Amino acid sequence: MFCPFCRHPDSRVVDSRTSDDGTSIRRRRQCPNCGRRFSTTETASLNVVKRNGVLEPFSRDKIISGVRKACQGRPVTDGDLAVLAQKVEESVRASGASQLEANDIGLAILPPLRDLDEVAYLRFASVYQAFDSLEDFEASIGQLREEHASRPRPSRSVDE
Ligand SMILES: [Zn+2]
Repeated sequence: MFCPFCRHPDSRVVDSRTSDDGTSIRRRRQCPNCGRRFSTTETASLNVVKRNGVLEPFSRDKIISGVRKACQGRPVTDGDLAVLAQKVEESVRASGASQLEANDIGLAILPPLRDLDEVAYLRFASVYQAFDSLEDFEASIGQLREEHASRPRPSRSVDE
C-alpha cells in the first residue's frame, strides 16, 4: 500500500471499519515516512491459498474442524472452539492481507490454541509443524515450561 503523497511503500493502519453490508473494510492509514493520513477501501473477502495452489474462501468452520481433532478428549467446548476461530480470523484480518497461505492460518491458530489447552496445542503443533522426533516435543514442552515459570497462570477450574 503506497502512500499517495510520498509513495512510501509502507503504511500503518490507524483505524478499520467494516461497511454495513460487511463486504468491505475502510481503513485509515498513516504513512510512517511523511506522517500524512489517507483512507483505503478493501473488500473484506479473505482467501486462503491451499498447498495445491487452489484459492478457497477463509472459513471459521474449517479452522474448527482442523482444531477439533487435536482437542479430542480434552475439556474444550464447542464455544471455546468458536471463540478460537474468531480470534484466528481477527488476527489474520489484522494483517490487512486479502490472501493468505495455508501456513499463515496454521501459525495464527497456535497462540490461541496454546492459551486454550496446552495438550491440544502440542498435538496440533506436532502435526502442523511436522514434529518428527522426541526432541521436537521436548523443545515445545520446554518452551511451555519456561512460559509457565515466567508467567504463572491459575489452572482452569473443572466446572468452567
Ligand atoms: Zn508518505
